[in-house]
Amino acid sequence: MTDLTHLNSTESSHSDTPADATAIPPSPPENAAPAMAFAQLQLADKLARAVAEMGYERMTPIQAQAIPVVLTGQDVMGAAQTGTGKTAAFTLPLLQRMLKHENASTSPARHPVRALVLLPTRELADQVAQQVKLYAKYTDLRCAVVFGGIDMKPQTAELKKGVEVLVATPGRLLDHIEAKSAVLNQVEYVVLDEADRMLDIGFLPDLQRILSYLPKQRTTLLFSATFSPEIKRLAGSYLQNPVTIEVARSNATAPNVEQRFYSVSDDDKRAALHQVLRTRGMKQAFVFVNSKLGCARLARSLEREGLITAALHGDKSQDERLKALDAFKKGEVDLLVCTDVAARGLDIKDVPAVFNFDLPFNAEDYVHRIGRTGRAGASGLAVSFVGGGNDVRLLADIEKLIKKKCEIEPMDMGVAERPPRRDSVERDRGERLERSDRAERREHTERTPRREYPRAAAPRDPFFDKPYEPSDAPAAPSWEPAKPTTSGRSISANIKPKRVVAALFKST
Ligand code: AMP
Repeated sequence: MTDLTHLNSTESSHSDTPADATAIPPSPPENAAPAMAFAQLQLADKLARAVAEMGYERMTPIQAQAIPVVLTGQDVMGAAQTGTGKTAAFTLPLLQRMLKHENASTSPARHPVRALVLLPTRELADQVAQQVKLYAKYTDLRCAVVFGGIDMKPQTAELKKGVEVLVATPGRLLDHIEAKSAVLNQVEYVVLDEADRMLDIGFLPDLQRILSYLPKQRTTLLFSATFSPEIKRLAGSYLQNPVTIEVARSNATAPNVEQRFYSVSDDDKRAALHQVLRTRGMKQAFVFVNSKLGCARLARSLEREGLITAALHGDKSQDERLKALDAFKKGEVDLLVCTDVAARGLDIKDVPAVFNFDLPFNAEDYVHRIGRTGRAGASGLAVSFVGGGNDVRLLADIEKLIKKKCEIEPMDMGVAERPPRRDSVERDRGERLERSDRAERREHTERTPRREYPRAAAPRDPFFDKPYEPSDAPAAPSWEPAKPTTSGRSISANIKPKRVVAALFKST
């Protein structure tokens, strides 16, 4: 188990008198309070047992501050970096409060939705629901998750059976409300998690609609990594005398993450990425880019250069996104190339490095991106490439936000080797894939015939001349029978087979 309990805590905000939601406590005190044991909370045995099974003895700072407040039923406005244990911080006290409603009846009417947890992305919703289920496993309280991108019917069937805790993304929840499969008139607790991100994505109207369906008498918990003026406005409209809790200064970056900024031209960024991975001996990393198109292209280029990559962006189907994450977690994928929306809040342990291949347009995203590494107290590396264009201005925004000078270092591309060619890493990759789940790989291979690339380095990838195609397009045209791979090894889903093109003119 990783010890998260030493993380910084401002601990000043939890007071008996409800604090003004706009009053963000100042920087952390010099001496953080000693970590509190879960045993001090006197949680119900059913919950304490689940916590113990997860291997947690001591609370993280957000847990130590939020759980006692939520247990009293007060509204909370919480600022916590991702990876601080905030899911348990709201889940455990909500489950404890809902235990009075627990029953084993099979009647759906006895299991109305009492707690609603809203999150911005499908992956986050899935992740939080999995955690809620683990904490609730010894109770009769039911949890379900609904998010878009997949069939509504199984979700409807689950909702109709009755669930006490509903974890959802806003759009799909509204679909279920309209279809009358989600009835929210008995909701007692609402959690708006990653609230700043929900606003960034443009979910404010959806949130307002959803909140209008809920009883006025309820407890509302809002968690956000950053407290922008919009977040404060949202809190002002929907929270009542919230207790403000903050475990690290807003927008602070974790001290255990080494941040490096390299001056690299756009053309050299891929070589620079290879160089950092090689010199640091790193196997896995997140690589952030700003656009879906850039994400697909970069994943493809890196794949051609011998790295096993998966692209995670909004145009990927839900199934593809979950598979890519799963493959990354299993170590079958070296690089997860992603956009901000797709990657927000993902809890993947032990990611040694994060690359900002593109500097984020929004400085707050920098904090979120580099929060993917150094999670749960581990050390991490965050490398940002500072190129041309607006990068100097974007970097100045980041410096302003994190209140730290970002020293730009030159990257000596003279010593950078060309990115390794696919062939040179095949053996290593083969060994790793052999260790992975063969059945799943075989299935993947059958679906995605291997594309053969010319041996000589092509001066330009023809992919870049084609319009962008979202990845849920069929892997191969229906008229082209799937060819078995020559090596028997799987390839990335980013690589599509060549299409058969009708020849209109024949050369003589
Ligand atoms: P979260 O911020 O909720 O995404 O949690 C980040 C990670 O910390 C998850 O993998 C949790 O399972 C883990 N975690 C939560 N609470 C604790 C705790 N008290 N001690 C150690 N790890 C924890």
